Amino acid sequence: FRSNLGFPRIGPRRELKRALEQFWAGRISADELLGAGKELRRQAWQWQAEAGISHIPSNDFSLYDHVLDTSLVVGAVPNRFQSAKPGLEAYFAMARGVQEGHGPGCCGNGNGHPSAALEMTKWFDTNYHYLVPELEPDQTFALRSTKPVDEFMEAQALGIHTRPVLVGPVTYLRLAKSRTSGFRPLELLGGLLDVYEELLRRLADAGADWIQMDEPSLAVDLELAERDAFLDAYGRLASASPLKLLVASYFGALRDNLETALALPVQAMHVDMVRGRSELDTILQTLPAGKLLSLGVINGRNVWRTDLADAVATVRHAVEALGANRVMVGPSCSLLHCPVDLGGEAGLDAELRSWLAFARQKIDEIGLVAAAVNSDDGPSAAPTQEAFAENARAIASRRASPRTRDPGVQARAKAVDAAMLRRRSAFTARRALQRKATPLPLLPTTTIGSFPQTREIRHARAMFKRGELSREAYDDFLGEQITEVVKFQEECGLDVLVHGEAERNDMVEYFGEALEGIAVTAGGWVQSYGSRCVKPPIIYGDVTRPAPMTVRWIRHAMQGTAKPVKGMLTGPVTILCWSFVRDDQPRSDTCRQLALAIRDEVADLEAAGVGMIQIDEPAFREGLPLRRDQWAEYFRWAVDGFRLAASGVSDATQIHTHMCYSEFNNIIDSIAAMDADVISIETSRSNMELLDAFVRFEYPNEIGPGVYDIHSPRVPTTESMIQLLRKALEVLRPEQIWVNPDCGLKTRQWDEVRPALTNMVAAARAVREELANA
Ligand code: GLN
Ligand code: ZN
Repeated sequence: FRSNLGFPRIGPRRELKRALEQFWAGRISADELLGAGKELRRQAWQWQAEAGISHIPSNDFSLYDHVLDTSLVVGAVPNRFQSAKPGLEAYFAMARGVQEGHGPGCCGNGNGHPSAALEMTKWFDTNYHYLVPELEPDQTFALRSTKPVDEFMEAQALGIHTRPVLVGPVTYLRLAKSRTSGFRPLELLGGLLDVYEELLRRLADAGADWIQMDEPSLAVDLELAERDAFLDAYGRLASASPLKLLVASYFGALRDNLETALALPVQAMHVDMVRGRSELDTILQTLPAGKLLSLGVINGRNVWRTDLADAVATVRHAVEALGANRVMVGPSCSLLHCPVDLGGEAGLDAELRSWLAFARQKIDEIGLVAAAVNSDDGPSAAPTQEAFAENARAIASRRASPRTRDPGVQARAKAVDAAMLRRRSAFTARRALQRKATPLPLLPTTTIGSFPQTREIRHARAMFKRGELSREAYDDFLGEQITEVVKFQEECGLDVLVHGEAERNDMVEYFGEALEGIAVTAGGWVQSYGSRCVKPPIIYGDVTRPAPMTVRWIRHAMQGTAKPVKGMLTGPVTILCWSFVRDDQPRSDTCRQLALAIRDEVADLEAAGVGMIQIDEPAFREGLPLRRDQWAEYFRWAVDGFRLAASGVSDATQIHTHMCYSEFNNIIDSIAAMDADVISIETSRSNMELLDAFVRFEYPNEIGPGVYDIHSPRVPTTESMIQLLRKALEVLRPEQIWVNPDCGLKTRQWDEVRPALTNMVAAARAVREELANA
């Protein structure tokens, strides 16, 4: 059986994004939006059918998010959305909130606002974000949307028989949140299963024979009660279901959940053979007789071509134990996390392209692996043999290529010693030198780096990329932009200025373009959430920095002011987490190479007279492995990576870092171990409560708790920021505190940023005065 677990929804050219944005802007009708979705589904099914996939997923499509879809199917719509018209209006209200609800005195984006969107958070350890179901103890469920049935029938009408996919009931409840303290949504399992049962009946009536239940929670740390919930849920569903059930675990090995997973009384179990290959033998020994095993041998999380010979060997091994009719071949997880089609990447050189496979290519790989195993009994078709030979050549070329290996980088990485991971002196000593080098008032004001990326900036960049603007003209344009931004900051009275990042399309891609060993694609988009997509660079080889990447623009900014300008870099952990990484060496090695490149940039900035350098690490927390017992190892190399990047400077040079979130409770000791002189974090929305971790830990270095919520179009008043600063002063020493927004300003408009920062400076001045008079 050739099986797929899910296909990207955005379309090869982000058609879904365009359609959504046009619909939200009122330029296309609901019917046109739905029509665009229908066309995307048709295309995906068609491609999969052509590739010979026998288990093609349906209901893997979503206009925004599949967890939100599930909430609508089971009728889990929080009260504050009950007034919205059911259908698209309610759907997008839950996804994005209702802007019209905002007025003066309203809370902005915070939870509890009548029109606030559902909270959004990361889907396991991917960069996909889902909308968190909100469930209260009195929640009842009912089948409120027939989307899974409709899409199944839609495919039937096209002559394509599909296997509908649902978020499994246990994973759904585990991902849910409740405002009622002490209440665990898992308690609602019984009622939820009633709805799943009804849905399964409807799907059977429509002609479905298999259903796929996604239960990635089987790859994370579970409590006993949660394991029991799995047994309960599938015990019930299996006895009631007219359909054959495939339970899909992915994103990791099963480990201590293996016994539970294999004991589920379902017809088939899917396992992740990319991250959990070592478990195959145990699984083969314990799999109950008669149960099918779906092997995820094609990596759904990365862009590398599969070593087909190796995948075939894995599948053959299972076939020998179980027989061919009990084994399915598929991707490790849904292909949602891969770009759609390599076909559009004319800009990549032929060799690099031959190493890659996006979703469409992975579908073909599934077919090839299955064909090779099936043909064991007979002679294999010539095209298959040819494809295998070509695959073997590509794998060999990647392995042997001098482009992936740079002996100089490897020697340098090996030679990293403890001294390179340490600043020369401890923080207190450094602080004195830094203040002498750059005198600053109490509560210094600054920003996080970017200023509005205006239409003008994006337009100029697009022209430059299309070759319609010369390098020289583009550089002149950027120089003018930077001069303007510096002038504004001077006028508004900020203490530490930035250059504004006008030259950067994206904080990771910019460095991906400048570093060697990293490729950027033209259209390798992956959904991040809703209509938002990201285009992760591809780290394919040892990383080197052929030339300084940022010095020129920081210098340009410094020429326009006598005030200190903060250099701006993206940290090694964040570049790693937001890229597709090589699979031929540990992530920690790649991180170290990136760190060395950033370290060199830091040194060049320092040599250019830049006394403050910010190394952004917004992805630091999200790099955490799913399993708790792997955290310590991650922290070790991630903290070392940052320190390696940051520690090459003299004591007088001040290192800043930035993380745009505020949950530091489990990780505060590692944050402290990074030993940045200053860290800026997001706190404005939580009213400074999220400083807690820093206070309890007695965080020694300086902190800039964000006082301006840049995720909201609202301009914060001086008074509101004074309040936040007073709150911060209740728990932190005045000499510790910086005054800054929550994050970069690139998504904001100038008419918001101008008054907001003016107010912020006024707030800092007012509080300074209070301190002086106290
Ligand atoms: N320096 C970056 C900016 O201001 C930081 C962005 C981020 O943390 N995501 O845009
Ligand atoms: Zn940020």
